[in-house]
Amino acid sequence: MNQNQTINEILRLAEERDALILAHNYQRDEIQEMAHITGDSLALSMEAARTDKPVIVFCGVHFMAESAAILAPEKIVLLPRLDAGCPMADMITAEGLREFKSRHPGVPVVTYVNSSAAVKAESDICCTSANAVKVVASLAEPEVILAPDRNLGRYIAGQVDKICHFWDGYCPTHERFTVDDVKVAQADYPDALFMAHPECPPEVLAHADHVCSTSGMYTFAKESPAQCFIVGTEAGILYRLRKENPGKEFILPTTRLICPNMKLTSLDDVLKALQTMSPQVTVPEEVRIPAKLTLDRMLAVPRD
Ligand code: SF4
Repeated sequence: MNQNQTINEILRLAEERDALILAHNYQRDEIQEMAHITGDSLALSMEAARTDKPVIVFCGVHFMAESAAILAPEKIVLLPRLDAGCPMADMITAEGLREFKSRHPGVPVVTYVNSSAAVKAESDICCTSANAVKVVASLAEPEVILAPDRNLGRYIAGQVDKICHFWDGYCPTHERFTVDDVKVAQADYPDALFMAHPECPPEVLAHADHVCSTSGMYTFAKESPAQCFIVGTEAGILYRLRKENPGKEFILPTTRLICPNMKLTSLDDVLKALQTMSPQVTVPEEVRIPAKLTLDRMLAVPRD
């Protein structure tokens, strides 16, 4: 089968199975092209909960499929590549977090959605890169634990008036992005605006014109009068940025900004998942219920 035939067969089978195909913003171009809906991990999980389709095919990494299963437990959630994990999410365990909490009694834990269901269940409230500052500012306590991303944590700490304790995790993909990469790109494209994801190291963020989530980048690129942008996040975001802004130029400063886990899922994997209705991702109720509470608390924080 060529690529078009594979896509047609996926879409035919998705209809037969009454399945919704979701693709994260960092997935391969052809996966984003084929999917019914693209977006960031939380937006996709909320789509999974909202849809009346009984089957969700989540083209992303494991914690994202878990989030869909947390919010939509009655549905079948398929993750085409079970080995598509997230090294940052794997840098923290529920047991490790419990030990960390014991050293800071009474301090609430704010956990990035890029974490396992078990770690969410051990937390007080979740956040995304888009709402992290608002979520932390909404808490009454003067101290917080921020997990697992130390870079997002430091970024938040710079925006809020609280004592912050960081878990020492990071995204290896964003961590590979250096100040030298930024300087070379800025020298090559002096008129470009540099937009950066808060998962980047603090010294990189210090050079950014705009720090925002992936959804923030789509909005910023669309609304800004600038014609050229240096993009400080995973390469998959270029697909939609270029599609939505045909007259504008988007520069990836280094090919090290490619997440191997996000690129694992192929069209053949999606087809196979729909043919076999596997692998499925489930979350046991004793973990799902407290994990959902942390997501619900986050969703209750006013957006403005
Ligand atoms: S880009 Fe980073 S945070 Fe996202 S899945 Fe890859 S390793 Fe995890």
